Amino acid sequence: MLRCVMSRALLASLCLLASSTCPLTASAQAKQNPWALATAPAKGTAKSIGDYSAGCLRGAAKLSLDGAGFQVMHPSRLRYYGHPELVSFIEGLGRSLHAQGEGDVLVGDLSQPRGGPAPGGHSSHQTGLDVDLWYWQPKAAAKRPLTREERESLKSRSVLDPKTSSMQADWSKRVLTMLRLTANDARVSRIFVHPIIKRDACNAETGDRTWLRKVRPWFGHDDHFHVRLLCPADAPECVPQAPVPAGDGCKELDWWFSPEAQEDRKKGQAKYQAKVGKAPGMPAECRELVDKPAKGPLPLQAAAETKP
Ligand SMILES: [Zn+2]
Repeated sequence: MLRCVMSRALLASLCLLASSTCPLTASAQAKQNPWALATAPAKGTAKSIGDYSAGCLRGAAKLSLDGAGFQVMHPSRLRYYGHPELVSFIEGLGRSLHAQGEGDVLVGDLSQPRGGPAPGGHSSHQTGLDVDLWYWQPKAAAKRPLTREERESLKSRSVLDPKTSSMQADWSKRVLTMLRLTANDARVSRIFVHPIIKRDACNAETGDRTWLRKVRPWFGHDDHFHVRLLCPADAPECVPQAPVPAGDGCKELDWWFSPEAQEDRKKGQAKYQAKVGKAPGMPAECRELVDKPAKGPLPLQAAAETKP
């Protein structure tokens, strides 16, 4: 989601690249961004093309708005498209959660119908291999499908308790169940969560710890977790991310709780902003998937980094 990685200043810098009139609102960006205007997938065999943060998606599959154990939120955004493997992953997670009595998982953004950069959105989620899933669910969602109005108006909620700097007790079991199920899916490359959630998972796990390796700490991500799949097999156009380091990653967590972390976060954003515009564009094949905008340069080019 936008708040994962993108500051207002970053948005302003993206505006500068896209237009001479700044700041642009999300809707104004949408008008200049042909990826946001696509309302249906590009025809062809499903293909994730390029980098998670500079790529696109051909032959996308559409996730149903409802299924066993999942419900799609904010459907008006049309961000429920993904590579068929991502759709299959979400359906499988929903079934498993349902079977464990955990109700439904509420699904945030996957990709736009043809992937690409989303206005007012993410730096990644461009190739149909990323999805944001909510930890929290309102009681109603465990009993019935939410109404269209509820889906558009409800916002995800943090599951952290500021008093204890740990997960809220009511949500802890559910969160750990969701993360364990997700990490144990061989298609999953990594999962981004708030550092406190990773620490709680490290402390809670007394059995097999191998799944913790894929759970990666990142700023934000206290109201949703971001799941990234590996490039599908036989997909030479898909640019993979380096494998996660060996080990469960628990001993390396201290830095995230140090004063330097906040400092670095600010610096990180500055570095990130400096990179915007210098990043390589998306592969040429992607440009065939959308019409050029009537005016102005082609779409916001996200940085090549593969952050959530
Ligand atoms: Zn995300």
